[in-house]
Formats: sequence, C-alpha cells, structure tokens
Amino acid sequence: MRLRKSSTRRAEIDPAVNPNRTMDLFALTPDGYVIAQDIACQNEYVAQQQCEDCGGSLAVIAQINRSFQGLTESVCFCQGCGKKHSVIFDISNDVYQAWWAERMGDLYVRTFDGPGRVADPEQRFFR
Ligand SMILES: [Zn+2]
Repeated sequence: MRLRKSSTRRAEIDPAVNPNRTMDLFALTPDGYVIAQDIACQNEYVAQQQCEDCGGSLAVIAQINRSFQGLTESVCFCQGCGKKHSVIFDISNDVYQAWWAERMGDLYVRTFDGPGRVADPEQRFFR
C-alpha cells in the first residue's frame, strides 16, 4: 500500500491538472455554469456530487464538447438509481484558457466569441 500524493505534488506531475487553480474553481458563473480550470477538475467535481434522489455516487458516461460556447458537458448516471445527471462546465474563463493555451502551444485556438465568463463571487464553492 502506498500513500496518496498530495494535490500540490499531483499538480506538478499531472498534465491534466492546472497548477494555477484559483479560489474560483467550481464557483458558478452568473448564468449557472460550473467554473472549470483544467481537465482533471471536471471529474473531481463529479466525484464529489451525490444523486439528490438516492444519495448515490455519479459516473461520467459522456463528455459533450460545446467549446464553441466556451462550455463542456459531463453526462453522468447515478450508480444507485440510474438517474441521468448533467453538469455543464465553463471553460471560457481566463484561468482555463491561459492553462489550455500553455498546454496547446501553437495548436491553441480560441473557439468561442466574446470575453470569457467570470465567477459569481456570491456563488463560490470554496470559501
Ligand atoms: Zn440516484
């Protein structure tokens, strides 16, 4: 058995984790989307959710690319009762886009029009 590495250490070695995550991670945008700041956090968020009907944990079965809207959607099923859930993440925010641009280098393309969404400070996940 091995001890799990701390999240700080993980950010240093896991290319799916943004080492520059901020307090706005998982905050809601004014239009109700969940702020994502990298790829890994999307599965982390789903893993922390429970089905409101039965309390079961959720499993992601599909990720829908809505990058033309600055969004990505995780479709999940409850492992307790089978109810379908959907979580829509904002990836238009500056933290995600800066991380993605750094990861993609010359391949980076901004896929949506207008400015990135910002977190609603009244709807932060972390306090
Ligand atoms: Zn359920």
